[in-house]
Amino acid sequence: MPKDTRTHFRTSSTWDVAVVGGGNAALCAAITAAETGARVVILESAPKSYRGGNSRHTRNFRCMHRGPLSVLSDAYTEEEYFDDLMLVTERNTDEGLARMVIRNSEECLPWMESKGVRFQPPLSGTLSLSRTNAFFLGGGKALVNAYYHTAENLGVTTMYNAEVMHVEMEDDTANAVIVQIDGEAHRIEAKGFVLASGGFQSNLEWLTRAWGPAAANFLIRGTPYNRGVVLNDMLEQGCESVGDPTQCHAVAIDGRAPKFDGGIVTRLDCVPFSVVLNKDGERFYDEGEDVWPKRYAIWGRLVAAQPEQVAYSIIDSNSIDLFMPSVFPASKSHTLEGLAKQLGLDEKKMIETVTAYNKACQAGEFNATGLDGLSTKSLTPPKTNWARPIVKPPFYGYELRPGVTFTYLGLKVSEKAQVQTPTGPLTNVWAGGEIMAGSILGKGYLAGFGMAIGTVFGRIAGKEAAIYVNA
Ligand SMILES: Cc1cc2nc3c(=O)[nH]c(=O)nc-3n(C[C@H](O)[C@H](O)[C@H](O)COP(=O)(O)OP(=O)(O)OC[C@H]3O[C@@H](n4cnc5c(N)ncnc54)[C@H](O)[C@@H]3O)c2cc1C
Repeated sequence: MPKDTRTHFRTSSTWDVAVVGGGNAALCAAITAAETGARVVILESAPKSYRGGNSRHTRNFRCMHRGPLSVLSDAYTEEEYFDDLMLVTERNTDEGLARMVIRNSEECLPWMESKGVRFQPPLSGTLSLSRTNAFFLGGGKALVNAYYHTAENLGVTTMYNAEVMHVEMEDDTANAVIVQIDGEAHRIEAKGFVLASGGFQSNLEWLTRAWGPAAANFLIRGTPYNRGVVLNDMLEQGCESVGDPTQCHAVAIDGRAPKFDGGIVTRLDCVPFSVVLNKDGERFYDEGEDVWPKRYAIWGRLVAAQPEQVAYSIIDSNSIDLFMPSVFPASKSHTLEGLAKQLGLDEKKMIETVTAYNKACQAGEFNATGLDGLSTKSLTPPKTNWARPIVKPPFYGYELRPGVTFTYLGLKVSEKAQVQTPTGPLTNVWAGGEIMAGSILGKGYLAGFGMAIGTVFGRIAGKEAAIYVNA
């Protein structure tokens, strides 16, 4: 293992468990370890006001349940959950780990409630999620705050502005982490380490290496602090990686969103009720392929593959109230020509494309709340549901850009969340959340699965670290 940095830094503290990161997975690990009496420190690179990473942007988690559970109605079985996952990942998953997350998600919900997380009935406009996803009252920010409060009561110490730069390894055992705290380097020792510092999506240089120049047009939906520093450090030190660097959770968001941290409000849910054109005025994918929670996460990649990484969603007044409104108002015009002008599209081409689509629409019953089978005929690509002609003015348009949520290239872990090397697991390093999500998510995404992975693996990592340090 390279880079022995012990001689350069003063050891400033010694702990049982050092948790790297300050989001959902880190907090679940810290709380679980602290409950056993372990002395735990959380090292969060963000300042306190930005603590909580991407987790503070979340709204819900996907939860298996054999009957009604808290705010969740009916049942959502392991098989149905697994089938849903297989569909979106196209079987690019580790079945053993995926099933473990699914099974464990059921006991997570009452555990979360016991740590101060409150749930609420589903929000309107979130197509068919009431049975499968439990919504956090107050969103991810309230969840994160509740966990910090619980952790504090258990005696967990949190250091903010504390960016871990390096994990100091000796053979298969970690001894310390080198941390920049308020710009000064410290060496922090611990008996066990939990890595929960997210993906590398906010490292634009790494994104460019994976995607080429197109990455310059990507927007990052979440925290600017997930730069993959620890992930890169562990991979450089010989840990096993999983996943492809170009695979990520990326949704189509409003092109006017800020470069980082725009959060959930910049997401656009209008695609299924629209036609989506690229810069050349052409349609490129079936906008109505499936219900939005099962399709929204592919649209970031689809837009990323278009010229200049931009697309335009066109709707009419029949559909404008069918989805959650965006934080930015749509471009609006009483004519398609006027709308094309506003969006910077070639007027003739856009009208030609919309007219061809309108002609291909068939008579039938429109149903916004489920697959209605209202499909186009003899159109390439087809629109297979919610295909209604776009005819009623005023017309509306949104510019779409790829909004990266999190990357999938990560650390390979075992069922016990142990970080793997080609010769076996590290002795005292565990991982949870985005940093290892690629162990399960090879491709695609299922709404609410990120928090399910982080909660299940965060808790396992915390438990295993505590068993190790208390032995
Ligand atoms: C806008 C948005 C909405 C989302 N909505 C949902 C949803 O409703 N349901 C769902 O399941 N998933 C959702 N996700 C995905 C979800 O946020 C993630 O899957 C989940 O939060 C990951 O948790 P985590 O703890 O691994 O990472 P994070 O919560 O991102 O935490 C990583 C932490 O590590 C810290 N960090 C990074 N590098 C270092 C370092 N070198 N040293 C120290 N600390 C470091 C960061 O500051 C951060 O606190 C959403 C994501 C976004 C961006």
